[in-house]
Formats: sequence, C-alpha cells, structure tokens
Amino acid sequence: MDVVAGVDIGGTNTVVGLVTREGEILAERRIDTTAYPDVDLFCDAIAANVASMAERIDDCLVRGIGIGAPNGNYYSGTIEEAPNLVWKGIIPFADLLGSASRLPVSLTNDANAAAIGEMMYGAARHMRDFVLVTLGTGLGSGFVTGGELMYGSTGFAGELGHVIVVQNGRRCGCGRRGCLETYVSAPGIVRTVGEVLAEYGWRSDLAAIPLRSMTSRDVADAAAQGDVVAREAFERTGTVLGRTLANIAAITSPEAFILFGGLAASGRLIFEPTQREMESNMLPVLKGSVRLLMSKLMESNAAVLGAAALAWTDLDKGIV
Ligand SMILES: [Zn+2]
Repeated sequence: MDVVAGVDIGGTNTVVGLVTREGEILAERRIDTTAYPDVDLFCDAIAANVASMAERIDDCLVRGIGIGAPNGNYYSGTIEEAPNLVWKGIIPFADLLGSASRLPVSLTNDANAAAIGEMMYGAARHMRDFVLVTLGTGLGSGFVTGGELMYGSTGFAGELGHVIVVQNGRRCGCGRRGCLETYVSAPGIVRTVGEVLAEYGWRSDLAAIPLRSMTSRDVADAAAQGDVVAREAFERTGTVLGRTLANIAAITSPEAFILFGGLAASGRLIFEPTQREMESNMLPVLKGSVRLLMSKLMESNAAVLGAAALAWTDLDKGIV
C-alpha cells in the first residue's frame, strides 16, 4: 500500500504519521522536539520512526514526506527564525530530512499545510478559492486561489495574523503593534476580557481568574453561562475578525473562510459576530458570496493530515 509520512513539527512535540491517499492515518508516533538540539539527529529520528512504522504494515511503500513547520518556507524547504523551536537561524530542513530518509520531502508552514489538508480531506473539498484561518495561540492562515496555495514572491505570503488592524494597538510578537492576532487568538480574547473588566466593572465570574492563567476556554464557558463580560469579549473579537475578513474578501473573493482551532470551537459565540460584521462590511458586489465555515478536521489530527496532503499534492504534480 502506498502511503506518505505527514510530519507536524511543534516547539514541544513533533507528530509523525503514515497516511494513505484517502486520509487514513495508519500509524502515528510522537517525538520530543526539545530532546534534539542537534537538527541532524532530529532528522535521523524522524527517518528512523517513518521506517520502523512502515515495517509493521504489510506491503507498505512510503512515497514521500510532507512537513508542516512554524516559519516553514515552501520554496526553499527551510525553517527560518522560528521563535518557538530550539534550532535558530535558517535551517535547510527539507534537504536534511531528504538526506536522512532518502525520500522526497516537501515543507511549508503549519497553517498552509492545514489549508491543503482541508482542501484534500475537509471542508474545502472541491473548492478552488478559500482561506483557512487557524485560531489558537496565534492566528495562522493559508490562502488558496485557483486551487493553488498562495506563497507570494518570498514564500511567506498569507500572514493574515499580522495585518495591522489597530494603529498603535497591542504589541505583537513580530515586533510591531496592532496585528490581528493580538486581538483574535486565545491570548487575544483573554486580553480583551481584561480590558472589558477594567472598563465596565461589570460583575463577572471571570474577575476571580487571574488573566495570566485564564484560557479562551474559561471565556467560552463563562459566555455560555450568559456572563456579560465574556459575551462582550466575544463580540469585540468577532467584530475585529469579521471586518478584516470583509477586507480580505475584497482582495481574493474566496468561496469561504474556514475557521479552525480552539477559539473556532467556541461555535456560535465567535461565528455570529464574525458573520454579521463580515457581511455588513462586505463590498456590495460580494455580498452573500462568502461562506463562514467550521473546519471539518477539528476532531482528527489535522496537522498530520495537512502535512500528508502536501506530500501527496507535490507527488501528483511531479514537483518532488
Ligand atoms: Zn504581528
């Protein structure tokens, strides 16, 4: 049976899975990323895990490897200055893993891989124009136009999280101020709760939780109980997101924005204000043309599936 390996590189854990063309994960292993300060040894470990998983499956042929990595550059196969990884600088990761495994390797950033996964296995099947938005500790995005992922001239196109939405706004990890992800992300909504509490002094159960340890889940739970501060925080978060999506729609005219991740799992709480603000700010010719959808890969290992979908796509194109 033909499979590819999907590799999801994270700051703490890396997950490696063997995935069929239909998106079935036949085997999966977890590697402690922090245990490998030497990237060569890390690549050897991935290659060894891929080989040993394949040995346990009858007639298994590994065709290639796809990787989703923070700050991954599809063009060069490099991981560049990723703040949460142990390896600093510009790492020629695809070349290193290619040498270690003797397999064709494709690499892109994690949100782009998730978009390809959604196109092959999830809510974007049969779509040629959509944007995947991941709402977690940051805001990642993958833009697909005409059936192709948009990489731009550098390989780093489609960074929706770093569109500036508030002049002189909140400080962002990228070194600038007012980026979308400082408002629309798990830490972003917690910061908004802090502002709402300070502004209104409304009675709220959230006041009892220190902001440092508050999670977006706490905010969602409180909002579901009718907490006014939590509801206001979701309103503001959805408002910023919806307006920004209307702006993006004016540029790429997607069929859909697909939301993924912890904050997206809050369902109506985030979808309602986002949909309303998106539609009310939409360019008239585009009104009613853009759907707001939930990812269909939330329950499965979307990152591994996305990385595998990248490998299948590139093998089919004959690129690798
Ligand atoms: Zn930023």
